[in-house]
Amino acid sequence: MTDCIFCKIVAGEIPSKKVYEDDDMLAFHDINPVAPVHFMIIPKRHIDSLAETTDADAAVLGRMMARAGRLAKEQGSPEGFRTIVNTGRIGRQDVYHLHIHIIGGPNPLPRMIAKE
Ligand code: AMP
Ligand code: ZN
Repeated sequence: MTDCIFCKIVAGEIPSKKVYEDDDMLAFHDINPVAPVHFMIIPKRHIDSLAETTDADAAVLGRMMARAGRLAKEQGSPEGFRTIVNTGRIGRQDVYHLHIHIIGGPNPLPRMIAKE
């Protein structure tokens, strides 16, 4: 997608702090981290959001999840982490290229979402 910021990161047109890359996926640090460890795993092929996936996306989504733990440990979150996939308007998604946030660090995170 020509106008997608994460497609531009995949293409190398926008710089990123890379964590991991293979043929299907890319992981890079969030530009605005909310914890000591905060990076994103994205499919290289553009998918709008988790609301738009089909069975054809299952393999890459599975591979992204299967990599998360190893990358989190390597990045300094050895005892667990949080995965967040903001999806659509209700999920307050800002960038419409599917991404899994991996958030953690040496200490426990705040509990889930605060009740309004
Ligand atoms: P969301 O779509 O709500 O999951 O949020 C998008 C996330 O992408 C935010 O946490 C941003 O800080 C992050 N982000 C936006 N632009 C960049 C960029 N150029 N490099 C790295 N992270 C980015
Ligand atoms: Zn994209």
